[in-house]
Amino acid sequence: MDYQKFLIKYAEIGIKGKNRFLFENALVRQIKLAVKKVEGEFTVSKEQGRIYVDCQGRYDQEELLSQLQKVFGISGICPVVQVPLCGVEELSEAVVGFLKDMYQEHSQTFKIQARRANRNYPLDSMELNRELGGAVLDAFPQMRVDVHQPQIRVNVEIRENIYIYSLVLPGLGGMPVGTNGKAMLLLSGGIDSPVAGWMVAKRGVKLDAVYFHAPPYTSERAKQKVIDLAKQVAIYTGPIYLHVVNFTDIQLYIYDQCPHDELTIIMRRYMMRIAEHFARETECLGLVTGESIGQVASQTMQSLAATNEVCTMPVYRPLIGFDKQEIVEVSERIGTYETSIQPYEDCCTIFVAKHPVTKPNINVIRRSEKRLEEKIDELVKTAVETTELLIVG
Ligand code: ATP
Ligand code: MG
Repeated sequence: MDYQKFLIKYAEIGIKGKNRFLFENALVRQIKLAVKKVEGEFTVSKEQGRIYVDCQGRYDQEELLSQLQKVFGISGICPVVQVPLCGVEELSEAVVGFLKDMYQEHSQTFKIQARRANRNYPLDSMELNRELGGAVLDAFPQMRVDVHQPQIRVNVEIRENIYIYSLVLPGLGGMPVGTNGKAMLLLSGGIDSPVAGWMVAKRGVKLDAVYFHAPPYTSERAKQKVIDLAKQVAIYTGPIYLHVVNFTDIQLYIYDQCPHDELTIIMRRYMMRIAEHFARETECLGLVTGESIGQVASQTMQSLAATNEVCTMPVYRPLIGFDKQEIVEVSERIGTYETSIQPYEDCCTIFVAKHPVTKPNINVIRRSEKRLEEKIDELVKTAVETTELLIVG
């Protein structure tokens, strides 16, 4: 069945007053961006605290739903049948017709949930429930009323038109992107960081990203993989400003000067410092990484503490308590997994020691970093200045 109208449901009931208004406007904005990707003509409107998508003419319903199901902030999508304002007899026919079209069998339990938003309508909600329920029972003798746990809830809303709907297709939940500021995602080519970015974005945070590239040790293909991942995350978040930092000279210098078992930690600390620089420059309110406690040597509690020490901004690690399998499941669901498992080298894998420290001592790490004093500031400055900015998505 093709619908011409969808009612968009959103949760976050805690959002009140002015914030509610901002939340709704942001959601309308995000929905408008999403429907632009679908062929056809659509209008998105907000009426009396409800958001509707109206479809004019022919369009690809599957594609529209798939796009709406990628908008953070939508908790449910209800295909709606619209009927012009009419008397209860005509409305009863419409409700029966709706059930005929919508369901093949007619032996379920049901409940009519009428809502008279239009006070001029002669029957109130209770009367409507009774009348329409009676009409359904007459038309489908095998259906039964269950007011507590009905299999079908038939919503009938009386407004300037009458809206009938029963299906609620699941949305992603979360909050519309842009309602909670912006963060800088450290995006590598792995499975974890795209998922971490997605999870933070789900809470309404817009994303920028930074990738540390180490040519010729990491190939153009590895960079392209990160761009592809950013593109996939951008389907949910809108365009991402991706900073591609040439990290090679910094890595080589650390490799030359510092103990090799501390390499990953020291490298990570420079990544954080540089990411924070860009975060400040672009008014981000925090950093995001894909770290999870104990996943690898550089993610033990001691290693995380050593990495964290150089940051003054909050570092969000949404995967901190996730097992790898749980992260994989999210990445499959959001569509980044296939790209993430492509076998291109990552700048960290090339320089890793055979036996990296798993319990770095911050004082020892600081002392090792002193060996970089001569050139590191200049190298960081050059890396920042030569960073390539790509707008992805
Ligand atoms: P991922 O699957 O995200 O690559 P990982 O399990 O490989 O993570 P690490 O390589 O230890 O873990 O990296 C931990 C985090 O550090 C990553 O999730 C990412 O946020 C950041 N990171 C690592 N390498 C890079 C890089 N080359 N560019 C940008 N961020 C990076
Ligand atoms: Mg990695």
